[in-house]
Amino acid sequence: MLHFQSMKVINLASGSDGNVTYIESDEAKILLDIGLSCSEIVKRLALINVNPEQIDAIIISHEHGDHMKGADVFCSKFNKPIYAHRSVWVGLNNKLTKVKIENRRLFDGEEFSIKDMIISPFSVPHDVPCFGFSFIKDSNKISILTDLGHTTDRILTSVLGSQIVYLESNYDKKMLSLNEKYPLILKKRIAGPNGHLSNNDAAEFIVKLVVTGTRQVVLSHLSRDNNSPDIAFDTITNTLSTFGILEGKHVMIDVATSRPGVMFKLR
Ligand SMILES: [Zn+2]
Ligand SMILES: [Zn+2]
Repeated sequence: MLHFQSMKVINLASGSDGNVTYIESDEAKILLDIGLSCSEIVKRLALINVNPEQIDAIIISHEHGDHMKGADVFCSKFNKPIYAHRSVWVGLNNKLTKVKIENRRLFDGEEFSIKDMIISPFSVPHDVPCFGFSFIKDSNKISILTDLGHTTDRILTSVLGSQIVYLESNYDKKMLSLNEKYPLILKKRIAGPNGHLSNNDAAEFIVKLVVTGTRQVVLSHLSRDNNSPDIAFDTITNTLSTFGILEGKHVMIDVATSRPGVMFKLR
């Protein structure tokens, strides 16, 4: 019997106003982060013909509001399970008052599966416990990592072999340092080792990804105040070109925004 193994992924919202990504395999439909209101998520799922009742699970990367603010209403309304790392639940438990006990699922860092999809979590350095994830079905692998202050070899090893990577590209270094509205302490937090990735940090990591076979990168979690899609794209493609890596030839670079983005399919 002929069987098509496929995966789909689309970012439905990205950035400090809210993060939601939808990942689908033949059997599983998953939301990674749920940082919009329940009604807005339902609207955005409708754009891709997904009924919220069909969602199998929600995974939450960390306790910050831009990643979980729709969780209480969505999960209680549709009776859906939430998966988060044990250390993330320490902060989440008090914030999610409506989610039933049996829908609070925890993992300890090892791989787990939801229907036919394997989910491989890996911790990333942020100011609260935070996780990136690889979603794996047969030879297909999609990795999503935002809200990390720096990258490590361990993180690179975790995402190795991903065809598609959603990677944080939060801020332009110059824009952040010149931003008069941000107090120094906030600038230090963002640029610190447990804050967010700059465009330059992302570029260096993308070079390593492309060398190991990644062909599609989506720049994610861009700061509204300290970045722009054009600046992020230009910084990264310029850096890649100094390594002989050409956007459009060796790798495709896309930018996620606060609006639903491109749906990517793997066969
Ligand atoms: Zn965030
Ligand atoms: Zn965060």
